Amino acid sequence: MTNLIDLTVVEASSALRRGDFTQAELFAAYRERAAADDTNSFTWLADELTLPAALGNDATPRPGTDTPLAGVPLAIKDLFCIAGVPTASASNLLRDYRPPYTATAVRLLQHAGATVLGKTNQDEFAMGSSNENSAFGPVRNPWDRTRVPGGSSGGSAAAVAAGLAPASIGTDTGGSVRQPAALCGVVGLKPTYGSVSRYGMIAFASSLDQAGPITRNVTDAALLFRAMTGPRDPADATSIGWDSPSELDLPTAERLDGLKIGVPTDLLGDQIEPGVRASFDATLALAESLGAEIVEVELPHARHALSAYYLLAPAEASSNLARFDGVRYGNRAEIGDGGLVELYTKTRHDGFGPEVKRRIMLGTYALSSGFYDAYYRRAQQVRTKIVEDFRAVHEQVDLIATPTSPTVAWGLGERVDDPLAMYQADVTTLPFSLAGVPAISIPSGLSEGLPVGFQLSGPAFSEPRILETAYALEQQIGFSGAAAFDGPAATGKEQG
Ligand code: GLN
Repeated sequence: MTNLIDLTVVEASSALRRGDFTQAELFAAYRERAAADDTNSFTWLADELTLPAALGNDATPRPGTDTPLAGVPLAIKDLFCIAGVPTASASNLLRDYRPPYTATAVRLLQHAGATVLGKTNQDEFAMGSSNENSAFGPVRNPWDRTRVPGGSSGGSAAAVAAGLAPASIGTDTGGSVRQPAALCGVVGLKPTYGSVSRYGMIAFASSLDQAGPITRNVTDAALLFRAMTGPRDPADATSIGWDSPSELDLPTAERLDGLKIGVPTDLLGDQIEPGVRASFDATLALAESLGAEIVEVELPHARHALSAYYLLAPAEASSNLARFDGVRYGNRAEIGDGGLVELYTKTRHDGFGPEVKRRIMLGTYALSSGFYDAYYRRAQQVRTKIVEDFRAVHEQVDLIATPTSPTVAWGLGERVDDPLAMYQADVTTLPFSLAGVPAISIPSGLSEGLPVGFQLSGPAFSEPRILETAYALEQQIGFSGAAAFDGPAATGKEQG
């Protein structure tokens, strides 16, 4: 009989198939554990096992396919709309908002049989790297509850690391799937921009936003990714669609012979902590021992990615968030006789947190006439240069590797008064976001007792190769996340 908790997706679905327990028992076990959570990972929990048909609008299994996720409860980042379920993107402005429709990514997971366990905490509108910008309060890192879990998908990463859900989904605009996955010792995949429909995700920066799985291992990431990508979604003009799911077979690679991995020296400066660097180098050595060739490559414009991103993302956000005006949906402020302007002003003043206001102001400034050329246009040009850098490197190598985050998880409150220090956390994830390419973070070991993430990226649509390579490395690394599990199931499983 399989233990009802601390399961991977594959373990949970095989145990369900064998009849070790029922969907209802599995759901109840996770529901109970999530309800007792002390990491603040969830913003809402489903009361009972709601079968897909009751939750989604048309979540009947896809004809002619199996349902690989049948009965597996998933944790869904708060910003994914689910019909009838509170969806606030961790903002007071949208608190208690219940959308009338379901995000395509969630619907596809439901098609594959998954059930919804709850919504997970995040930074407000996905703006942040520590999950401290949430109207629901900060999330605690399950490895050390005095530290941040990373962000913005902090609740999704912490929930999986703590064994509160077999897997979760998050979104990644500049690193928000990969960085919290790294800081919490789990796997996070940001797919190629356009692979997963953005329909029903509350938008932050539309040219960058991309949904991806956060899981206990690489196989589960492949499984969820396969389920989340469908044919092109007419509801998202930038969705591309993966028509042949057979290309996305589950990874099995044991060797990496013939694979060339590029290490961009431009991204490995002083900001990388020694413990993170050591773990990174050890993982490269493992790749070599499996037959891969490691070569140094240059991404000469990557060092400008941070500045470009923090103009482009706020610019897009200032435009996307203009819709929250207190009129159509969300919370509306009580006003005096100041009319519409007072309604807009007070609603936005009361509803948005400080980081969101900062981004809206930055973005509005960058787009304003007179400054547009100096900031927004310049940042777009830098983005093009970065895209070209990646193209050139992909002519020389198959994949690119970097540490996912320059540091391990830092203390709660440590960077809240220093936005620039907070933004620095994204220095190794942002270039890949601006280039639109896929990237995964896998745990590569511990530094000071805290997880370190190893990032692997490749050209657009190289997810199969990234997953194969990550899988082969994962088998060698043998990372155990058991130290982060809470409760009785963790007893006696401390990592050596
Ligand atoms: N940390 C980055 C930011 O604050 C990235 C966030 C994200 O990917 N959603 O914008």
